[in-house]
Amino acid sequence: MTVSSYFSADYVEARDKFLTACGERSLNVDSRLNPNAKGARGEDLYTDIARIGPANTAKTLVLMSGTHGVEGYCGSGAQTGFLREGYFADLDEDVSVVLVHALNPYGFSHDRRVTEDNVDLNRNFLDFSVSERPASEYSRIHEFILPDDWGGPAHASANKQLASFIAQDGMKAFQAAVSGGQYAYRDGIFYGGDRPTWSNETFRSVLREYAGTADTVGLIDFHTGLGPYGYGELIAGGSSDQKTLARTWYGDQVTDPDAGTSSSAPLVGTIEFGIEEALPDAQIAYIALEYGTRDLTEVLTALRGDNWLYHKGELDSEQGRELKSQIKDAFYPDQDDWKSMIWSRACDVTQMALTGLRAAA
Ligand SMILES: [Zn+2]
Repeated sequence: MTVSSYFSADYVEARDKFLTACGERSLNVDSRLNPNAKGARGEDLYTDIARIGPANTAKTLVLMSGTHGVEGYCGSGAQTGFLREGYFADLDEDVSVVLVHALNPYGFSHDRRVTEDNVDLNRNFLDFSVSERPASEYSRIHEFILPDDWGGPAHASANKQLASFIAQDGMKAFQAAVSGGQYAYRDGIFYGGDRPTWSNETFRSVLREYAGTADTVGLIDFHTGLGPYGYGELIAGGSSDQKTLARTWYGDQVTDPDAGTSSSAPLVGTIEFGIEEALPDAQIAYIALEYGTRDLTEVLTALRGDNWLYHKGELDSEQGRELKSQIKDAFYPDQDDWKSMIWSRACDVTQMALTGLRAAA
């Protein structure tokens, strides 16, 4: 099946397919080495950038994969598919498309959602010069999120505590406490860090370089793990101007975590704020294209297990391999029907973005 061939089994293969597809289109690739980490096979880790169309255009569309590492299988497959199918062969002359492959290559290679510093990149775009951090209910549950054992008595007791939180406060409140973003527990999940990570710095520098002259910039940031299996939700964020432009381009299907209409909880420190900082003069239409995989409890359990493994477990063990296969499956259902759904939605959404760009003043 052709569509499935765009997708890969690991970061090395995904990068290879992306670079090969760029080569077939005679595109230059700008490879940014992450100097702080190595991959799961000991390989060097890169964020790779390719531009279709001329430099310094008035309108730019940015397609990003791997903001959340392991979620990169999805976006990488779409990027490679677009290149192989020559999807951007007929761009208007004032439009360029920039593909940013594996924004968090460490997480992609190691099948983790976080960066090499255990940071959730999409909570890392905070103004760290301000000493106060956003409040989070996460402190109520951290000790249960990271129990002393996994599969033993501490884990069982922690699960009971989490279940009673859900029983008392409800699943939405639990999801917000877990995933909203926290800045106090560096060994916790959805940790936003205490400084900009390498991926954060790299992304903002890429934006300035590749979209710095544009008046209008659309961004599609590929994510997985929330919502119904295979469905791609369009989640807007950032300033009200950003949300308004996203709605102009994509219509009423756009959801907003702050308004309670999204499968995502309200978040802090998200990437839209980094985009605004890097491109202060542009009008921006950002969406997270969030594809469903497994049910929420399964996804959160897989994330918790992965975090436990790196802090208290043994990677090279049967349990370690089991936990790694769980997190990979939670963010990348390696099935043809899922990939077909990803691909057709990616084409539709990208088409809407190009139409929106064309109409932009
Ligand atoms: Zn994500």
